[in-house]
Amino acid sequence: MAGVTPTRVALLGGTGSIGDSTLRVMAANPDSMVLHSLSGFRRVDALIERVRQWRPARVAVADDAARTALLAAIDYQPDVVTGAAGLVELAADSEADLVVAAIMGAAGLPSTMAAARAGKRIALANKEALVMAGDLMMQAVDAHGATLLPIDSEHNAIFQSLPADYRCGQPIQGLRQLWLTCSGGPFRDQPERDLSQVTPAQACKHPNWSMGQKISVDSATLMNKGLELIEACYLFNVASTDIRVVLHPQSIIHSLVEYRDGSFISQLGRTDMRVPIANALAHPVRVDSGVEPLDLAQLSQLTFDQPDNDRFPALGLARAAVTASQRHSIWLNAVNECAVEDFLCGRLRFDQIASRVGHALECVAPAPIDSLDAVLEADDHARRWYAEL
Ligand code: NAD
Ligand code: MG
Repeated sequence: MAGVTPTRVALLGGTGSIGDSTLRVMAANPDSMVLHSLSGFRRVDALIERVRQWRPARVAVADDAARTALLAAIDYQPDVVTGAAGLVELAADSEADLVVAAIMGAAGLPSTMAAARAGKRIALANKEALVMAGDLMMQAVDAHGATLLPIDSEHNAIFQSLPADYRCGQPIQGLRQLWLTCSGGPFRDQPERDLSQVTPAQACKHPNWSMGQKISVDSATLMNKGLELIEACYLFNVASTDIRVVLHPQSIIHSLVEYRDGSFISQLGRTDMRVPIANALAHPVRVDSGVEPLDLAQLSQLTFDQPDNDRFPALGLARAAVTASQRHSIWLNAVNECAVEDFLCGRLRFDQIASRVGHALECVAPAPIDSLDAVLEADDHARRWYAEL
């Protein structure tokens, strides 16, 4: 793409699974994308490796100790910012054209919101930000002329199945409903009694995708699909009742739009996040993602089924939360994050993740949420509630 000014990318969450896939897409498109800034958190070694290779002008780290370790390990002087405020600074940086929001969980909300308020193009992986603050985020996107480009594969598939001039947040003309596809996770066929015995290693071994630990556990409980349902309500301006979830174990069809005339439009592709990332980074241009082509003739079948709501109650809990109030969604997300962490550390059984979330939803008072501070306060309240269980 000679002659085109390259997109300057701020990559928040650069040491994670989405961060890695993003850098691989950028490596395949060196003339059209440059890495302006990068953030890491606990894995300082991984951050150092990426900074050495990519030499971003700005880097965000957790604290002063990480800053010292980074600067001692590299041979140039980037601007290094620290803590949550540093992430917000990189998100709003006037020298960044596009922000990849790929921090895991609630920790990604303030920077994603800052990118929206700065009117950025936002390639959004951090679904938890929309779950916690969907209305506020969409209002900020609208008020500041920001653009949301979904990275989550299902939402990216829907986005690609909408008219070319569609902007996230607008109503969809002629829609009957959206279909979110769901692989069913590693325990799709496991009897309910066995689910109390599964280990973190088993839960993190997704049959089709390679992802960070938290989203892998969410995929195993089906909470990931619940979070995605809420994410889709805001991204595509639809009610939760206009979204169906269907099991599709092969994960080839990444989601569908059903129009009122009976047409279903969808996007198909390999289970590799570089495909939706390339789409979001380069939108509306098509670039190489580096992913091997999919040979349809090698696919024996594409199958569909109903999700089992009794064995996997998390999806129903997410539907109930988004219908009840914003505060319910905040509690759903916060208590899920706490419970998943406890499960990963061996302090909680797999089946207790959803039961903790269900218990939490019974304890939420639906008081209105009207600011980012109110969201963060409700998130903190939910975590304190959980800690006292
Ligand atoms: P990951 O655990 O592999 O990486 C998480 C990133 O967030 C790391 O760079 C880490 O340093 C950073 N981070 C974590 N806690 C932080 C904190 N408190 N402060 C600052 N930075 C922090 O996670 P992932 O799988 O890459 O997922 C990232 C986001 O993308 C999640 O919201 C997830 O739901 C979403 N997502 C991931 C996939 C996937 O295939 N991995 C697919 C769709 C959506
Ligand atoms: Mg997804």
